[in-house]
Amino acid sequence: MIYSRLTSKTSAELRGCFSQFKADDAGGLSPGKEDNAEMWKTNRKAGGAFVVNRLYDLIIIGAGAAGLFAAANAPSNQKILLLEKTSRVGQKLYMAGGGQCNLTNDADIKTFLTRYGANGRLLRPVLFPFSNRALMSWFEARGLPLVVREDGKVFPASMKSNDVIKLFTDLAAQKGVPLRLDTPVTGITPLDNGFDLQTPTERLHTRNVLVTTGGASYPQTGSDGSFFTCLEELGIPLIPCRPALAAIHVCGYPYAALSGISVENVALTLTAGGVAPIQGRGDLLFTHRAFSGPVILTHSRYVTDGMTLTLNYLPQRDTAALRKTLLDAASGDKRQLLTLLESVTTLPRRLLETICLRATLSPDVKASHLSGAEMAQLATLLTADIHQVSKTGGFGSAMVTAGGVALDAVDLRTMQSRAYPGLCFAGEVLDVDGDTGGYNLQFAFSSAMRAMEGVG
Ligand SMILES: Cc1cc2nc3c(=O)[nH]c(=O)nc-3n(C[C@H](O)[C@H](O)[C@H](O)COP(=O)(O)OP(=O)(O)OC[C@H]3O[C@@H](n4cnc5c(N)ncnc54)[C@H](O)[C@@H]3O)c2cc1C
Repeated sequence: MIYSRLTSKTSAELRGCFSQFKADDAGGLSPGKEDNAEMWKTNRKAGGAFVVNRLYDLIIIGAGAAGLFAAANAPSNQKILLLEKTSRVGQKLYMAGGGQCNLTNDADIKTFLTRYGANGRLLRPVLFPFSNRALMSWFEARGLPLVVREDGKVFPASMKSNDVIKLFTDLAAQKGVPLRLDTPVTGITPLDNGFDLQTPTERLHTRNVLVTTGGASYPQTGSDGSFFTCLEELGIPLIPCRPALAAIHVCGYPYAALSGISVENVALTLTAGGVAPIQGRGDLLFTHRAFSGPVILTHSRYVTDGMTLTLNYLPQRDTAALRKTLLDAASGDKRQLLTLLESVTTLPRRLLETICLRATLSPDVKASHLSGAEMAQLATLLTADIHQVSKTGGFGSAMVTAGGVALDAVDLRTMQSRAYPGLCFAGEVLDVDGDTGGYNLQFAFSSAMRAMEGVG
C-alpha cells in the first residue's frame, strides 16, 4: 500500500544510479554526468515545482563509510534511499590509511573497548555483535581478501580503498538501493508515522532515518559538521565537537628541520595541574610545525589548554641511568659526542644532532670533554623532553572528530534515538572517536550494521 505512491519510473531511475558508478581520477566514485542530469530531469517532471513527496522505509543520510556499508547490507524487502551531499561517495573512506584503507584491527575485541577514550566502555552492545572478526569474515565472504599487518592493522589485500568502495556500491546496487548525489538534507521533521526530510528541492517522507553524516574534520570531504545544526533543532543532545587524532603543537617547537623523521616506541606523558597524568607509548613523527605520529594522534583527545607534554625517546631508560651510561661510555673515549650518542642509542642521527644543539653542545666536541652537568642535560632532553602545549591541529587536519550525538541519547543496541524511535545514528556523527589502527572504521561498520538489523 505504501509503495503505490512511488511511480515505477522514479524508482527505476534512482535504482540505476549505483550501477553507473565508476572510479574517477580524484579517487572517489561518481556517476556519469548524463545519469545525474537524468535524475534531476525526472524529479522536475514528477514534481513540477521541485516538490515531490515519496514514502520510504528508510532514508540513509550520508554516503560515507557508515552510510555505504548500511546500504550494502540493506534488506531486500525494504524501500531504501541513500542521499549524499557531495558529488562523490566515500571520500574519507577513500583517504583512509593513506588510500590503503585500514579497515579494522586484528586485536581481541575486548581490547577495542579501551580504544575509544572514556566512551569505549559503553560500546560493547555495538562492537561485540558485529566484531572485527565478523567484519573480516564479511569482506572475505564477499570476495575481498584481507591482509593483517604485523602491527595488527587490517587492509584489503589489494591495499586499495577504492576496492572497498566498489564492493559497497556494487552490493548496494544489487540490493536495489538508489543513491542521489549532490543532495544535502537540510532538515528533519518528526511526524506521527515517520519523518519528513527536506532537501533543497523536495520533501521526502520515510518511516525510518539513518544519520551517517560523519563528524566535522576534513570538511572538504563533505563531513563538515553542518548537519549538527539540524540535529540541534530536533533537540538531540550533542557533545561539542573537537578535533581528535590531531597533531600536537607546542610553544617554540624546535624540530621543524626534522620534518618527516619518525622515532619508534616513544613514551608520552601529558600533565596538567590537578589532573592525573596521561601516559602512552608509540611511534612519533616530527612534522614542519608540530609533533604527530600514532602516539601523538591517539592522545590528542586528552589535550587541554596549558598542558605539558613530556617525551622520552628512550623509554627503557630513565634520566639518571642514561646520564651514567653516557658518562661511562665517554670516560677515556676519543670519539665525538654525536658518534658516542649513536653508539649508545638507536635514535636517528639528525634527532641526536638537534638534541646536542638544544643542549648548546657541538655534536663534534670530544665526548670525554663534557662535564657531568652537560651529560645530565643531554640525558634529560633524550628522556624527558618537556614542552608547553599550545594547541592541537584543527578540524582541517584532524583525522576524526571527538564529540557529536551524546551516547546516552541513543539506544546502542539498535542505534535509535531515545527521543525519536526510528531515527538512528551510525559512525562518526556519534560521540565516538577511536585510536589510529582501524578503530574508527570498525565503529562506523559495527554501528551501521546494528542500525540496519533494527530496520530489517
Ligand atoms: C585522512 C584520513 C585518514 C583516515 N584513515 C583511517 C583509517 O585508516 N582507518 C580508520 O579506521 N579510520 C580512518 N579515518 C577515519 C574514518 O575515515 C572515519 O572515522 C569514517 O570515514 C567515518 O565514517 P562516517 O560514515 O561516519 O562519516 P564519513 O565517512 O565522513 O561520511 C559522512 C558522509 O555524509 C555526507 N553528509 C554530510 N552531511 C550531509 C547532509 N546534510 N546530507 C547528505 N549527506 C551528508 C558527507 O558528505 C559524507 O559523504 C581516517 C580519516 C581521515 C580524514
